Amino acid sequence: MIRLKAALYVGGNVAEFMRQAAAQYRGQMKTLDCINPNCDGLMQVIYTDETHFFKVADKDHEMVLHGVPVYECNCCRTRMADVNLSAELEGFIDEEIEFRLKNYMELPTEIDFDQLLTP
Ligand SMILES: [Zn+2]
Repeated sequence: MIRLKAALYVGGNVAEFMRQAAAQYRGQMKTLDCINPNCDGLMQVIYTDETHFFKVADKDHEMVLHGVPVYECNCCRTRMADVNLSAELEGFIDEEIEFRLKNYMELPTEIDFDQLLTP
């Protein structure tokens, strides 16, 4: 459905469609019980930096993504990576890079997570 809507409204640019869709959607990540069986704490969302590595024309690049939400326990500090979110982010970044290359735009070395979600 995303690709279809992107084709309809933004010339097939999925990244642009996602920006517009996300700009209209405001959700809240829920609090979870700690995944550590010996802890009664709660996992809350914190924001951290992640470095992504990619290759363009055999040249290595890296991009720091600021403010990526991850779960951290407020008691034992165990962190939980959201596999789903990481996979989506990876694909999203690939699309963003492809879009920038096609449009002769500079490749960023750092980007804010929020920036991916706003038009
Ligand atoms: Zn805990």
